[in-house]
Amino acid sequence: MARRDRLDTEDLPKVKVSGESLKRISRLFGYFKPHRGKYFLGLFFLFLTGLTALAFPSLLGDMIDTAEEAMLQDIDRIAVLLLIVFVFQAIFSFFRIYLFVNVTEHVLADLRKDTYNKLIRLPMSFFSQNRVGEMNSRIATDINMLSDTFTTVVAEFLRQSMLIIGGIAFLAYTSVELTLVMLGIVPLVAVFAVVFGRIIRRLSKETQDRIAQSNTIVEETLAGITNVKSFANEMYESVRYAKSTEAIIEKALQGARARGFFASFIIFCLFGSIVGVIWYGARLVNQDLALLAADPTLDSENLFTIGKLIKFILYSVFVGASIGGIAEMYAQIQKAIGAAERILEIMDEEPEPYEAAHPSNISAISGSLKFDNVQFRYPSRPDISVLNGVSFDAKQGETIALVGPSGSGKSTIASLVLRFYDPDSGSITIDGINSKEMGLEFLRNQMAIVPQDVILFGGTIRENIEYGKPGASLEEIEAAAKKANAHIFVDSFPEKYDTIVGERGIQLSGGQRQRIAIARAVLKDPRILILDEATSSLDSESERLVQEALDKLMVGRTSLVIAHRLSTIRKADRILVLDKGSISENGRHEELLAKENGLYRSLLELQMQA
Ligand code: ADP
Repeated sequence: MARRDRLDTEDLPKVKVSGESLKRISRLFGYFKPHRGKYFLGLFFLFLTGLTALAFPSLLGDMIDTAEEAMLQDIDRIAVLLLIVFVFQAIFSFFRIYLFVNVTEHVLADLRKDTYNKLIRLPMSFFSQNRVGEMNSRIATDINMLSDTFTTVVAEFLRQSMLIIGGIAFLAYTSVELTLVMLGIVPLVAVFAVVFGRIIRRLSKETQDRIAQSNTIVEETLAGITNVKSFANEMYESVRYAKSTEAIIEKALQGARARGFFASFIIFCLFGSIVGVIWYGARLVNQDLALLAADPTLDSENLFTIGKLIKFILYSVFVGASIGGIAEMYAQIQKAIGAAERILEIMDEEPEPYEAAHPSNISAISGSLKFDNVQFRYPSRPDISVLNGVSFDAKQGETIALVGPSGSGKSTIASLVLRFYDPDSGSITIDGINSKEMGLEFLRNQMAIVPQDVILFGGTIRENIEYGKPGASLEEIEAAAKKANAHIFVDSFPEKYDTIVGERGIQLSGGQRQRIAIARAVLKDPRILILDEATSSLDSESERLVQEALDKLMVGRTSLVIAHRLSTIRKADRILVLDKGSISENGRHEELLAKENGLYRSLLELQMQA
């Protein structure tokens, strides 16, 4: 799992850090506003840890120089000073980390909530155009990425910058000459090392990917071994596997060359440059010692001593490491900007008009429904007309059956009633009011849907039924379950309504899941009911229980049924036969059956044969 997360963040796009991109994401800083006090305090502690870190090499160098002068109490004094520096460093670090994480976690929680709240309020057209998995990853990976960046990277970036600037200032103070020598070598080597490190990591990731690919071959062939054998394709699979294992070797060796080269480079350049700086510094020390020997009255303050050389080396290591660290972080900041932009994209989407005004004089609808010349294309497929002028009328309490070949537009009609989409032209009126003028929440509260394939949430049965009316009492839930013919089987479970369903709990049969969905709808007590009958046949006993529950549910409500069962169709007040997005026949069962060569008749005959 952890590895997967890593790979995901590595796949994030990198964005050029520019004024433009910073301006765009600066909106996210709004999230910091409520916590700015803590954030600035954190920054202050960060500054203090930087100072104490910078004091360390200087004190250490002083201690060594004092050793030469054999002043014991001075040595002790510096040791105590160093100890104090460490104590403060430790305290400052604690607060710095705690404050940053505290601010970041609050900010991220707000960001998570806002993104999620925005996401679930986006229109259906958004979800058909964007893969659900990708959305999931935006919430998980992108926000994690931001979390890492804000908690550690930004803080480290500032700290390292401070160490570089402060370090170079101290270096120049110690010896300008040597500083110039150092700056000519160390940063170059550090940046080169970072770039190289990245190449090695990329190669090792590619090797991992190839290993995964070849494992997939093994998995696939073993899972489908009957296929492999029955087609006598062992040879083919062997060749395929051999190719993929050789591909691993190729990448792995590329990685090995890079790593080998990196090791030689480190030994030669990095150690070489350190030795180079020390060599140059040792010569300076030697020169100054010669000067001192010639003229003992010289002030040792102005001479380059061993202690100063040590200071110098330590500061150089600080500066080198920080430059390397910053180059590394730059890449991460680029990715974080990419992640932030993707999150902002969601934030900028237009949500569904939930709060749209609805006629205030009605608190509920009676449920008459009218389609008037409705034309519709899915926003994601504007080239295909799905509904071409559909008109029909359902009076309050009537049952309308939608039949027709698959792809003829039945589910689309149901989606339009729920206002998942609005028609391109024509109108849908409910109780004589154009549904576009009704707020979505109001409208959908008057409707319930019993889908073909019921998906239950991974909670208890009780929670799953309660979804129809959040806050319902157990009595209400039981009553609904009884009406839906679900009580009998729920009652047979040891934990009854507290039985967990879904992946981690009990697996319900198709008919049982449908009855739970019916109970949900009963609890919601809608004026308009949308039923999508299951095509896969249930056994006759559960079909009878489901049908009976549905019949009870439909009483007194306007029902739109995507019908597959003959029993439903027979009883319908009107049957709409859809063909390629138009209503080709419209009437009662007997009327339609009487039509020679009618589509309904042929559909029915087909069904009878099956
Ligand atoms: P039915 O329910 O009668 O099988 P649908 O209403 O599901 O038919 O589909 C009607 C047409 O609309 C089909 O051609 C289908 O491919 C297309 N369609 C359905 N849903 C979408 C969608 N979300 N985006 C684009 N096209 C869709």
